[in-house]
Amino acid sequence: MPIATLKQVLGEAKKKKYAVGGFNVNNMEQIQAIMLAAQKTKSPVILQASKGALAYTNLVYIKHLVLAALEENSNLPIVMHLDHGDSLETVKKAIGLGFSSVMIDASNKSFRKNVELTKKVVKYAHGFGVSVEAELGTLGGIEEHVKGAVKLTDPKQAIDFVDKTGIDALAVAIGTSHGAYKFKKTPKLALELVKEIAKNVNIPLVMHGSSSIPLNLRQQINRYGGKMPNAKGVPISSIQKAIKYGISKVNVDSDSRMAITATIRKVFKKHPEKFDPREYLGPAREEMTKLIASKMRAFKTAGHAKDYRVVSLKETKKRYR
Ligand SMILES: [Zn+2]
Repeated sequence: MPIATLKQVLGEAKKKKYAVGGFNVNNMEQIQAIMLAAQKTKSPVILQASKGALAYTNLVYIKHLVLAALEENSNLPIVMHLDHGDSLETVKKAIGLGFSSVMIDASNKSFRKNVELTKKVVKYAHGFGVSVEAELGTLGGIEEHVKGAVKLTDPKQAIDFVDKTGIDALAVAIGTSHGAYKFKKTPKLALELVKEIAKNVNIPLVMHGSSSIPLNLRQQINRYGGKMPNAKGVPISSIQKAIKYGISKVNVDSDSRMAITATIRKVFKKHPEKFDPREYLGPAREEMTKLIASKMRAFKTAGHAKDYRVVSLKETKKRYR
């Protein structure tokens, strides 16, 4: 590697019963934090950018930041994944930038329309050797443009969906939710449903909306002038059970945002004289590195980078021309 497809990485994960975090990135510090954590724990990595991240970074910046990550980490398999692609156009844009994996999320459409669009994306993406993740069922919560009421994945429909579309990974709705204000109480996930879908569907399963909303980070944010209401995330223990039952990719975004915000708030409050961005972005990056490393250990990704065949950087760069 370093560039790997989602199919390769999740195929390994599924076989060995661990999961790989899908960590969202928008800037240099987040990419560095994830890569540092991956180096520390010797983990395969999925860097993922949403449509919003592509817009925020003006496309070309995210491309070169990822290239930098590839160049700096030639010993690690790295998947560059589009999170929640909403159309064939967005998918084409991502593949044009060199992404090795895309998600098409048409889960808010009818089953027939979801199949129709997903199939088109699969046909296009597979032509470039790019993997496709799609979603069936709908998660609750709000994250950027993703809104909706909960509808758990129907296991019978899942078989049909995978058959008809030819996707490489299936995002399932099992009671998790996007964003930082997911639940008032600790959620109960539909773990039996994971088991049932995994039994019937022969591709890796993905859970979205899986931030844990750590209490210490929320408290730190509020202690230093922030205002995050009481909310619960998905406990690590539930995620670990879901992994045991067949989940191979776990998406995390809010927790990274919280680690960064909690750290920056603390620096600002304790050292109001500081104004050099390195003095707050540096510590923020360090906190995010710790957080991501702990997830890599909890998801049992740690130590698995060595399972992959490493290809030359030149090969990798061909994709990024
Ligand atoms: Zn998501």
